[in-house]
Amino acid sequence: MESVKGGARGKGNPGSPHLPSIVTYDGVRWVDFRKELKPRYGVVWRDIGLCYAFLALGVLAVAATPRGPAWTTAALVAAAACWTGYWLHSLFLFGHEAAHTNLAPKRRTNDRLGDWFVWLLYGSTTVNYRFTHMAHHAHLGDHEDTETTYHLCLSVLNMLKAVTGVHVLEVLLRKREKRGESRARSTRTSSGVLASLRSFAVHAGLVAGLFLGGAELAALTWIIAVATVFPLLATVRTIVEHRRLDAPCDTDFSVELHGPVNRLFGTGPLARTFGAAGFNQHLLHHWDPAISYTRFAEMEEFFARTPLAAEMEASRIGYGTAVRALILEARRG
Ligand SMILES: [Zn+2]
Ligand SMILES: [Zn+2]
Repeated sequence: MESVKGGARGKGNPGSPHLPSIVTYDGVRWVDFRKELKPRYGVVWRDIGLCYAFLALGVLAVAATPRGPAWTTAALVAAAACWTGYWLHSLFLFGHEAAHTNLAPKRRTNDRLGDWFVWLLYGSTTVNYRFTHMAHHAHLGDHEDTETTYHLCLSVLNMLKAVTGVHVLEVLLRKREKRGESRARSTRTSSGVLASLRSFAVHAGLVAGLFLGGAELAALTWIIAVATVFPLLATVRTIVEHRRLDAPCDTDFSVELHGPVNRLFGTGPLARTFGAAGFNQHLLHHWDPAISYTRFAEMEEFFARTPLAAEMEASRIGYGTAVRALILEARRG
């Protein structure tokens, strides 16, 4: 049903095929084809712009709606916070695209654009995230993997931890424990602290501005979106991308080996926006992390003409189906 690979096919990303040897049935080599797959920067920036427009819409809708009875106001704020948090989560995924230098051709420009247009809201920087994230590619599923959220099962308790920020705190504490003393690391640590303070100032400024402008409910909408909806969606998405569907809740994957799991989700509007910036085709990203999501259609079409087609099909699953399966497994445990 799903792709679980042990990286037995040579060097490269765990769970990924040895791409240099992949050739289509009509003789096109991946190593040649991939050279044509330059990012479509216009599409990337259109998508980032849409995320901003949609998340602003949620806050502005609350600010512009006259206050009614308490229950309609509460329903409006809850709905707008879900909407705004959803787009905040979509926008966040473009920080990953920045880490893979797919926002602009020059790395320096790319990194700055990523910092100002994405990471400003999320307490990190393109360089810092890149450093951590590359270890996720190199160590997917093993004990050196820097992404460990999929160690959690989709239980009610874990979702409560995500909504209340407890999970984020746990992740930060774990990172602190692992942090070494090398000079390079301490440079990144101080720039990370600065980035966190900068983001906190941006969010605080935004909330204060809305309050002072008389839009208290819009400020509340932003707070709920940032503090609860966004972390919940980010947690669920990461679990669904990499957790084995049959993994019991009581298995401690910091001790036992999880192994690499990759999935291909749908390409409809919901999948494309929940798994924005190509996260809905996460399997392809792990196979060749340098390829921009704006070329995944061609990438998928290419591999459909190779012996890897069967593996792609085996890893295909809808977000809804994967979430349901993981919830059922969590209830069993
Ligand atoms: Zn991943
Ligand atoms: Zn990546």
